[in-house]
Amino acid sequence: QENKFQAIISHAKEYGFVFPSSEIYDGLSAVYDYGPYGSELKKNIRDYWWKSMTQMHDNIVGIDAAIFMHPTTWKASGHVDNFSDPMIDNRDSQKRYRVDHLLEAHAEKLEAAGKKEEADAVLKKMDQLLAAEDYAGLKDLIAAEKIVCGISGTGNWTDIRQFNLMFSTQLGSVAEDADTIYLRPETAQGIFVNFLNVQKTARMKVPFGIAQTGKAFRNEIVARQFIFRMREFEQMEMQFFVRPGTQMEWYNYWKEARLKWHTSLGIPAEKYRYHDHVKLAHYADAALDIEYEFPFGFKEVEGIHSRTDFDLKSHQEYSKKKQQYFDNDVDPATGKPYGNYIPYVIETSIGLDRMFLLVMSHAYEEEVLTKEDGTQETRVVMHIPPQIAPNKLAILPLLKKDGLPEIARELMDECKPFFKCFYEEKDAIGRRYRRQDAIGTPFCVTIDHQTKEDQTVTIRYRDSMKQERVHISKVKEIVLGAIA
Ligand code: ATP
Repeated sequence: QENKFQAIISHAKEYGFVFPSSEIYDGLSAVYDYGPYGSELKKNIRDYWWKSMTQMHDNIVGIDAAIFMHPTTWKASGHVDNFSDPMIDNRDSQKRYRVDHLLEAHAEKLEAAGKKEEADAVLKKMDQLLAAEDYAGLKDLIAAEKIVCGISGTGNWTDIRQFNLMFSTQLGSVAEDADTIYLRPETAQGIFVNFLNVQKTARMKVPFGIAQTGKAFRNEIVARQFIFRMREFEQMEMQFFVRPGTQMEWYNYWKEARLKWHTSLGIPAEKYRYHDHVKLAHYADAALDIEYEFPFGFKEVEGIHSRTDFDLKSHQEYSKKKQQYFDNDVDPATGKPYGNYIPYVIETSIGLDRMFLLVMSHAYEEEVLTKEDGTQETRVVMHIPPQIAPNKLAILPLLKKDGLPEIARELMDECKPFFKCFYEEKDAIGRRYRRQDAIGTPFCVTIDHQTKEDQTVTIRYRDSMKQERVHISKVKEIVLGAIA
């Protein structure tokens, strides 16, 4: 599995999906750039999410708030005081660790060595100590477990400290007057501070949602696993505002709805599981992660949080601006309107880059094929769901002459307003097919001499490699049928 992960990283680079940031200067830790196919795939995932929220729900609207926000936002949200992770340094190796990651990695090792019960006991103890913010206890646990991570083997650890994950910078050109502002560590607050703007202008009635996608920044203590944990990343978040007392109903609704979104892409349900949080964040009354089985194990891809009225209430206190909603629906218990209240919130929050890695992990296959003469060869194929594949259709004239490129160009002109097509006339057809497999193009169409006779083309399906002849006028519909 570790090999598969390394293969995915190399493949992502070789085929223009993901590059290390500023690579000519040897990269920047935990920052990545998306290449030609990567940026298409990322945009398609974002669009697929956006459509599922704002087009498929008539009670969800979108916004696009700025990354910079008034500094008081982060006081009110609790990020200035609470958005930190416990870290510890190993004096021998001079390496820094996030305490929960260190203990989780240790538990994974125990489990791999067949000591499942011991592993579970470590995780349970860790959860309890984290919940109690008992850092001395956590340090004792690390010592008792004899976690070493150093050259001398003594396990010489510092005390545990809290490390705030927000990046700060200065606003304004005159340093003395400058105010410290933060790069947003989540997109959610841009939604909360706009709650009434949106509710009033879009004339929304509770229950309703506000969706947003955009960059977020976290100074992660240790960034690892490629684009799984980055310092600059993108989130897709939706805050759903509900009447107080109905939050568990909506929490369960979104828990199911979000898993359905994942499986609607054709990704098998058994690769997913829910993980309920033991330690709840300061704003939550219930929370869970949707986890996916990455090549390095089950890990969080999306969080569903019941955030209560914490954020709106806190913004009301700090801003001194009422954040109330007037609900004129009649309460059957009293026969009167529900009246004024601060809504409760259910949040769905998914990392776009993490979803991208999920798609790459699901899609990547080194398929062994047996040729007609009995020998074997391997093809690398990306089974990217057609709805989000970077190119939907490759149009390939068999030869660069005899009028075949002209017919191909005509098909290109017909299809390209509807979906992304790719045109190529160089190289043997087999090699061209393999390149399309490697970038995950679901359909290839070949134009040959017979096309001139009877207007049929060969259509080749990426996953099955089956080929069939269809009338050229049918190609657009076939592709549209698969990507809707
Ligand atoms: P963790 O405990 O792994 O640090 P988190 O619980 O703090 O993550 P949330 O605050 O719930 O994460 O963020 C919501 C989503 O944003 C996550 O499910 C994940 O997909 C994504 N995300 C969070 N941090 C990062 C990161 N550093 N890089 C990439 N994606 C991230």
